[in-house]
Amino acid sequence: MATALIWFSDDLRLRDHAALHAALQAGLAPVPVYIHAPQEDGRWRPGAASDAWRLRALRALDADLRKRGTRLHVFRGGSLPTLRAIAAHAGAAAIFWHRSHEPTRAARDAEVRRALRADGLRADAFNGSLLFEPWQLGTQAGDPFRVFTPFWKAALAHWNPPRTRPAPERLPGIAALPGETSLEALGLAPAPRWDAPFWNEWTPGEAGAERALRAFVDAALARYADGRDRPDLPMTSRLSPHLHFGEISPWRIVEAVRAAGAGAAGEAFIRELGWREFAHHVLHHFPDTPESNFNPRFDRFEWADADPGLLEAWRRGRTGVPLVDAGMRQLWATGWMHNRVRMIAASFLSKHLRVHWQHGARWFWDTLVDADLANNTLGWQWVAGTGVDAAPYFRVFNPVLQARRFDPDGAYIARWLPQLAGLPAKYRAAPWEAPAGLAGRVHDYPMAPVIDLASGRASALEAFSALRGN
Ligand SMILES: Cc1cc2nc3c(=O)[nH]c(=O)nc-3n(C[C@H](O)[C@H](O)[C@H](O)COP(=O)(O)OP(=O)(O)OC[C@H]3O[C@@H](n4cnc5c(N)ncnc54)[C@H](O)[C@@H]3O)c2cc1C
Repeated sequence: MATALIWFSDDLRLRDHAALHAALQAGLAPVPVYIHAPQEDGRWRPGAASDAWRLRALRALDADLRKRGTRLHVFRGGSLPTLRAIAAHAGAAAIFWHRSHEPTRAARDAEVRRALRADGLRADAFNGSLLFEPWQLGTQAGDPFRVFTPFWKAALAHWNPPRTRPAPERLPGIAALPGETSLEALGLAPAPRWDAPFWNEWTPGEAGAERALRAFVDAALARYADGRDRPDLPMTSRLSPHLHFGEISPWRIVEAVRAAGAGAAGEAFIRELGWREFAHHVLHHFPDTPESNFNPRFDRFEWADADPGLLEAWRRGRTGVPLVDAGMRQLWATGWMHNRVRMIAASFLSKHLRVHWQHGARWFWDTLVDADLANNTLGWQWVAGTGVDAAPYFRVFNPVLQARRFDPDGAYIARWLPQLAGLPAKYRAAPWEAPAGLAGRVHDYPMAPVIDLASGRASALEAFSALRGN
């Protein structure tokens, strides 16, 4: 039986897998292949937390394939030469994969497709990660969208849910291929094992993604619209790493949410998936945005020199601003941070400390298990005020008021900063306001922020006015 290579990358699932389905439809025996080629990712090689997740997701995929009679064939090296060699050996008539929308990978994939087709092979890439291809929607003038609301309106107007496909029950296996290596030999596991605590919180892989979806739909979806801004409550889906690694397809999520009949709450949730779509749309049309301000006016903005001590205090959660520090410690301990706290931590860095957003984006890139070039770039440029549809630079989050509003009992702060748990809730957001008699209840935590919040805000606004004056 002729074979088709299924070239896996950020689509580590079997359910609703267009490339796998295409091979089966064409009567070709699928040969599942993973090629480790971080050198092809240019400036955005996956970070350490991503690697730790990927290893586990690959193990889960391999186990799922073995249950069906085959396995994942693992290689390292250049993607094109490896695919050519395996195709020749496995007698492949075709190579199918899912498109990546990261600019460097998209360029590589186009080159791979051209070369494989020139070899006389069938080489096709499918959409497996988005509701819409990034180029599918545009303004009436045919331009890319720069504002989310009309983008989402256009998306809803073109809404056309495909039928999601079940995972195949059996798959034919083939003998080992020359040049194969093992997942364990890829060097993805962190040393030392700082990731160990992550796995109390997460189960990478398709089964973990399905369980997270089920748990969210059953327990939190109905209250999502109000609850999604509360970092102290488990009210969001935590599907972001599963989505990034393609362990679940977005249409599968939409299907489950709509089937739950959650009404407005369900639509509010699907709209957040829309932000992910928008981020990919923007990255596709403006591929320089991971490195450059979307709004070039900010190229002249007076960012502060990134003081290594201050940057390190921010990274380690020692700025003395509890909500920022709690978030940064949640990130360090679990590889994830609640969206509201991401906004506040990013705003503190790029506005109160006036450090260029790229320093923050790089740290997130290395530490987030859901690190995603499109979402991370959009998130940082949005907060910093330099991006599309961005929060204006002069809107500076007040981390104390935000904490009192969205973490009203100080439970989130106390969880990630147990040093402050001895304080009454109202002082956890601002321990420096606590009466002197309570100071003894705080251990090993700065009693004053690294920057006075009012003057940090004022100097950010001054730098912004200077930019406007120019
Ligand atoms: C500075 C900053 C950096 C960020 N970096 C990333 C990143 O690297 N990777 C990443 O996946 N998200 C990033 N986000 C977006 C958002 O914080 C996360 O997607 C969200 O917190 C994931 O949690 P969840 O799955 O529980 O979200 P839910 O609220 O359950 O949302 C469901 C899904 O919708 C998508 N989504 C939700 N909010 C956003 C958003 N604002 N932008 C884009 N997609 C969204 C995600 O895929 C998410 O999994 C960033 C946001 C900010 C402000």
